[in-house]
Amino acid sequence: MSAYDRLISGYREFRANYLGEDNKEWLKVAGKEQNPKVMMVACSDSRVHPAILTRSALGELFMIRNVANVVPPFEEGHGDGTYHGTSAAIEFAVNHLRVEHIIVMGHSGCGGIGALMDQSISDETQGYSFIRPWMKIVEEASDFTELEKVSMTKASRVTICEKRAILISLNNLASFPWIKDAIKKGSLKLHGWYFDIKSGNLSEYDWKSEKFEEIT
Ligand SMILES: [Zn+2]
Repeated sequence: MSAYDRLISGYREFRANYLGEDNKEWLKVAGKEQNPKVMMVACSDSRVHPAILTRSALGELFMIRNVANVVPPFEEGHGDGTYHGTSAAIEFAVNHLRVEHIIVMGHSGCGGIGALMDQSISDETQGYSFIRPWMKIVEEASDFTELEKVSMTKASRVTICEKRAILISLNNLASFPWIKDAIKKGSLKLHGWYFDIKSGNLSEYDWKSEKFEEIT
């Protein structure tokens, strides 16, 4: 079966099972306006599928997926002359849907972070024009001292960079004035998640210990 046919077959299974009359939860919300309580910013990576990882149902998660789960900072003048797909989705989720949680989920082996660390797939001369400017948003995450560069393995530095980038995105979220207000009011919480693909372990950033702690 081809990769495409596999999807069609999966869809048929979904229709027969998920959309069946027994799924009362779904039938309750089907046809109404969406009302998710959680927005997630995740990577486009095919191995990090938020709905599968969290076993969430239709209507539960308002999703943004982009390269390396990056949130750009708020821009005055609404970024005139540029395209702000991610910011538009955030605006809709916070100001219209009134989500109560925003989760930024990074992961191991991230191609976008890999590009930031070794510049390989962000090289314009190799035909990549969009990745480099996009990854510049979290460029600071890849800053290492000369000592760190020689004393740490590349793999450890990549993991640190992936986790730091999540924190930069969380900080950028807080630069949107209406997000800052919602956090102050207590109506919105921000969370940082890190998914390790190989082990399947998910960690959550603990604001007190300032570390990613494994969710057990
Ligand atoms: Zn990724």
